[in-house]
Amino acid sequence: MNKEISKYSYFVGNINDEELNDNVVKCILIAIDKFINNNCFIREFPLKCDKHQTQNIGVDKQKFISGMKGHIPEILGSNDVTRIIFNKQSDKSQLVQVMNVIEFAYKHLCYAELINKDTEYYSCTEHQHYKCIDSELQTVQTSFINEINICFEQHTLNFELQQDGKIYRKIADELVKMNDERKKFKTIDPETDNLLDTAYNKFLSADLKERKTALEKLWDAFERIKTLEHSDKQKSVEITLTKLFKESSKLKCLFEDEMNELTSIGNKFRIRHHETNKELIRNSLEIDYLFHRMSATIHALLKGLSAYLIVKNIR
Ligand SMILES: [Zn+2]
Repeated sequence: MNKEISKYSYFVGNINDEELNDNVVKCILIAIDKFINNNCFIREFPLKCDKHQTQNIGVDKQKFISGMKGHIPEILGSNDVTRIIFNKQSDKSQLVQVMNVIEFAYKHLCYAELINKDTEYYSCTEHQHYKCIDSELQTVQTSFINEINICFEQHTLNFELQQDGKIYRKIADELVKMNDERKKFKTIDPETDNLLDTAYNKFLSADLKERKTALEKLWDAFERIKTLEHSDKQKSVEITLTKLFKESSKLKCLFEDEMNELTSIGNKFRIRHHETNKELIRNSLEIDYLFHRMSATIHALLKGLSAYLIVKNIR
C-alpha cells in the first residue's frame, strides 16, 4: 500500500459498488471519447494523411475499438466508444470490463500537438496534422485521471484511477495505518508475511473476486499466526495473549471469544472452504465488514508475538 492511498477519504455510499449503473458507465465512456476527439491516442491508433503518409491527422476510431476488443474480448461495439456494449453474462463482471477499458485507454494516451500547417503541410487544407509530445505525457495522463475520478466521485464509487494507470478501491485510513505499521516488521514465518501482503494488496482491487481472495489470504494468515509461538496452537495463542492482556481480564476473554468466532466464520462461510454448503460472501459490504474485523484482531495479535518483537529489536 503506497503513501498516496493513505490520503484517501473513504465513503460507504454503496453496498454493491461492484455493480455500475448505466450513468457512470456513460460518464466514463464520454470521458474517453473526449480524449479520442482531442487526438490523445494518435500514437497507437493514428489516422494517416493521404498526401503525407507519415503524418497523423487524428485517431482512427475503428482501430482504437479493435485494439480495445483485442484486449477485452467481452465488449461489443462499432467505432463509437460511447456505444460500447458490455457483456453482462460474462464471467468477467461488467465492472471489471469497464475498469479494463479505462486502463486500456490510459495505457495508450499521448499528448497531441498541432503541427503548424502554414509552413510544412500547406497543401492539406481539409485537415490538420498532429504529433505526439513525449515530455507532455504526464499532463494528458493527469487530465485523464481527473476526468475518470470525477465520474467515480459523482456516482459515489469507492474507486480511484492512479498515476500507475491502475484503478484501486479506496479503503479506510485506519486500515492503511495498520498495514503500514505491520509492514515495518516481519514475523518469523515468511509465509505469514506473504499472506498478509497479498491480502492487503488484493483488498485494494476493484474486482470483487480479488477482494474475496484477500479475505481468504487474511484468514489463512490468521490460522498461521495462531501457531507461531508454539507447535501446540492453544499454548501458542496463550503465550501471545498473555503479553497483550491482563490475566483473566474481561477484555482477554472477549478477545479469545472473538478469535474463536473468527475461526468459526472462516469455516461457516466461503472464505477458506468453497463447498456449496458454506454461505457465500456476496458483496463489498460483507467483505469490508469481515476484513476490518479480522484486521483488528490480527493487528493486536502481531503486537503480542515475541518473534515479531525480536525482529523489530534487531532492526
Ligand atoms: Zn495532410
